Formats: sequence, structure tokens, C-alpha cells
Amino acid sequence: MSILINIPGRPLDKLITRLKQDIPEHEIEVWPNVNNPDAVEFALVWKHQHGSLNAYKNLKAISSFGAGVDSIISDPDLPNVPIARIVDPDLAINMAQYVLTMVQHHKLRLNQFNQQQKECIWKPKSARKGNNVGILGLGQLGAKTAKVLLSAGFDVSGWSRSLKKINNVNCYAGDNGFNTVVSEADYLVCLLPLTDKTENILNAAVFSKMKSTAVLINVARGEHVVDEDLIAALAPTKEQAHHLQTQQQIDFAYLDVFRQEPLPEQHPFWQSDKIQITPHISAVTNVETAVSQIVENYFLQKKGLELKNLIDRRSAY
Ligand code: NDP
Repeated sequence: MSILINIPGRPLDKLITRLKQDIPEHEIEVWPNVNNPDAVEFALVWKHQHGSLNAYKNLKAISSFGAGVDSIISDPDLPNVPIARIVDPDLAINMAQYVLTMVQHHKLRLNQFNQQQKECIWKPKSARKGNNVGILGLGQLGAKTAKVLLSAGFDVSGWSRSLKKINNVNCYAGDNGFNTVVSEADYLVCLLPLTDKTENILNAAVFSKMKSTAVLINVARGEHVVDEDLIAALAPTKEQAHHLQTQQQIDFAYLDVFRQEPLPEQHPFWQSDKIQITPHISAVTNVETAVSQIVENYFLQKKGLELKNLIDRRSAY
């Protein structure tokens, strides 16, 4: 049995060195130069070339190298084997801290004071009033983010597929629940997995239901947002404003994830003074934590036991 690392376009030296501490060297294969395809039973995958997992007739399990599995699930030629993902409490804390920071950044008007500092202007203004944070997705990351925001004094609502119970968080499910969370949020945070059901979920119709002072924080996947609709909602052209009968539908967006990464130079998001961009850094996979979970699953697979942190292939997350 061997493990295949299928992670194109990234430096892998650190990962391979670390894996070699626990897995014999001859059991580690790196795509595309695979010595013995028939020995591959376990594949460690991140943004693989679709179809490239089909060459391994004895493949028995796939592990994502991150929390998300969307780039795996979207492979039309994906072998029908169990898929595991990384579940890391530190990742959830990092994400919660990122979201809290962005909320506070807006609430305390730090952009405005930054501008004032450049012009030596002393002009106090109290923090924005809005205190309601709506979180779409109450999984590993969303639930932790809800708790951290709650303990920082915010009113927190959340939306998930199945109705959750989290102390002091207003939990919702279903279409009505979605509308409630979206329309009441001063800060709307997207922490959904990318699936057929959630792709393009943040679109013109949704922005029109939001408060004109609301802020969008997308830390999940770029494909959750319809880019043109967001640009129009933040700063509509005259025609759009006439059509929408409003000047602006939402106030600001913090974006950490994009349809295309790196975000292309000509993308309008770069130029918008209503968007704060970070380059997909809100919660970065910790190699050490990821490797220990991958190694554990590799040996579970070797013993023919069920893997940890398996996703449900039917719901695609
Ligand atoms: P989980 O699978 O633990 O949680 C997903 C949540 O979304 C669950 O609450 C689930 O509902 C809910 N959900 C899924 N589909 C729907 C739907 N159709 N309608 C309503 N709710 C839905 O995922 P994580 O919290 O671990 O991660 C979330 C996403 O964050 C990842 O998929 C990834 O894309 C992104 N991510 C981004 C990172 C970054 O650096 N920016 C880092 C890591 C992850 P239920 O509880 O009922 O199943």
C-alpha cells in the first residue's frame, strides 16, 4: 500500500519530509511521477487535476489537505471511495478571530480613521451601532465563530441545513430562516461549504434584502458570491440605481476568497473602496495538524478500519 500526494503547483518538500517521519519512504508517491500506481490505496489531494485520480485501480480513500472538499467533489471522474477532510480546532479559532477582527474593523471605522491620519485630521466619531452578526453555516468554523462573536458582546444568529442548538445564538434553517438571518444582519458572514446548493447564494436578490448599512464577510469560497451583483450592490451605476431604486444596497465587503486566486489584476474588486481584500489567509491549514490526521487515517485505511472526519458524499461536504 502507498499514499499518493496529488497537490499540484505547491512546494511539497516540507510536507513530504514530515510524512516520511511516520510513513516509510517507499510508501510515498508524488503525482504525476508515480512508480507503482497499483500500490496506491490512499490519496492526499488539494486542487488536483480532474480525472487524475482515475489511474489508481486500488484506490480506497481520498483525504483533502484542507477543511473544504469542493475541489475534490467537483471532479466528474472522481472514484467512488470515501473522502476525509481536515478538522482542526486551531483553524476554527483562527477563522473566528479573523471574522471578529473584520467586524471590529468596520464597527470602529478604522478605514475612516486611517484616511484621517494620512491628512492629520482629528475628528472623533463613535463606533457604529449595528451589533447583529448573521453566520451562514454553523459547522466546525461557523459554530466557533458564533461563540467567539457572542463572547465579544455581539448578538449572533446562524443558519444551517439542519436546525442547530447553540446557547444564546438564534439558530435558523430553511428558506424563511435564511431570509431572517440575511435581513437582520449588520454583518453577514459566509462560512458555508461550496456545493450545488450554496454556489452563487450571495446574489442580487439577497443583497436587496440586506440592510443598506450591512457588511458582507466572505471567508468560505469565492463561488458563493456573484461578483457583478456584489459590485452593483456596493456601488451601483446610475442605471442600476434607477433599476434597483436605491443608491446602495450594502455598505462594505471583506473578502478573503475569490473565484479565481490569485485575484486577477483587472478584477474590479481591487479598485473598490468598499471592499477590503485579504489573500485567502483567514484560516490556513497547519501542516503539523493536517499531517497527524492524514497519517492516522492512512494507518486506519491500512488496517481496513473506518477513516476519521469522513464527509457525506451525497450532501457534498
Ligand atoms: P462544516 O462542514 O463543518 O460546516 C458546514 C456548515 O454549513 C454546516 O452547518 C452545514 O449545515 C451548513 N450547510 C451546508 N450546506 C448548507 C445548505 N445547503 N443550507 C444551509 N446550510 C448548509 O464546514 P466547516 O465549518 O469546516 O467549513 C466551512 C467552509 O469554510 C469550508 O467548506 C471551506 O470552503 C471554508 N474554509 C475557508 C477557509 C479560508 O481560509 N478562507 C479555511 C477553511 C475552510 P449542517 O450543520 O446542517 O450540516
